[in-house]
Formats: sequence, structure tokens, C-alpha cells
Amino acid sequence: MKIDIEALRSAGGKTLTYAFTVHGANLDTDEEDVQFLTPVQVELEAMYGEGKVKVTGSLRTSLILTCGRCLKSFSYPYDQEFEDEIQVAEEETGINLTELIRDIFITNLPFKPLCSTACKGLCPRCGVDLNEKQCGCPADDMDPRLLELKKLLDK
Ligand SMILES: [Zn+2]
Ligand SMILES: [Zn+2]
Repeated sequence: MKIDIEALRSAGGKTLTYAFTVHGANLDTDEEDVQFLTPVQVELEAMYGEGKVKVTGSLRTSLILTCGRCLKSFSYPYDQEFEDEIQVAEEETGINLTELIRDIFITNLPFKPLCSTACKGLCPRCGVDLNEKQCGCPADDMDPRLLELKKLLDK
């Protein structure tokens, strides 16, 4: 994923359009819970001026994420717009965008993905998926973090 700065410089302030397709594996995201269903489509416009390249664009792909409540996998349409300015030195002839795209991608992943905002999650006592059935555990208003601690202490 490279942009030729020479071409941008000689475009004299005009915007050039680029499109790239990157396989998720080549982004090296190191995100264990993220699988790519489709390659990442990168579309961007770039403009050179005063030692900087201004880029605006979008990242699109389909992901498989793991729900933070019920731990099931679900498909997630990823669509992120971005805008950035890259400083370029006089002697530079090209910009490699892979790192920028990786950073944008990771920063905009949902912090706690949910299969649905209504996901009921797992019962903290027996682990049953509460979206599928009621488990009959007594209602417990104990903080789930305390419950984890209690489990450890009971061992
Ligand atoms: Zn869920
Ligand atoms: Zn239960």
C-alpha cells in the first residue's frame, strides 16, 4: 500500500484517488479475537502541500468478532472513515500506508463488541447463555467481579 509522492507533488495541489485491497493477515493486527471474512478495502484521496500529504478515506471489511457478553462469534460490518496528515521529507519518494491503516483499523475496533445491544450474556453462576434459556439460578445482585473473587476464595 504505497503512495507515490512524486506523482502527488507534480499534481500541483490536486487530489489523487487511490484504492487498495489488503488481506487482513497482511495488516498484522495481532488481534486474537478478530477474523477477516473479506479483504480490507481501502479507498483514499491524497493531496500534497507544504511538505505534508493530506489523506482522507475509508476502510471497509467484514469481520467475525466475539461477543463480550455471551462469547459467541458474530459477523460485524466494519466501515471507518479517516483523515490524516503525513509529514514527508524532501527526499522521500513514497509513503507506505500499511502502518497508518493498521493503526486506524485497531483504534476503531469496538472495545467491547456485542452481538446485539440486547444480548443478555452468560449467567455468572452456571455459565448458561441467557439468550437461549433461563437457568434458574437465584437472582444475585452481587457485583460479578466480586463473584469472581469469591469463586477464587472458595477454591
Ligand atoms: Zn452476545
Ligand atoms: Zn445460572
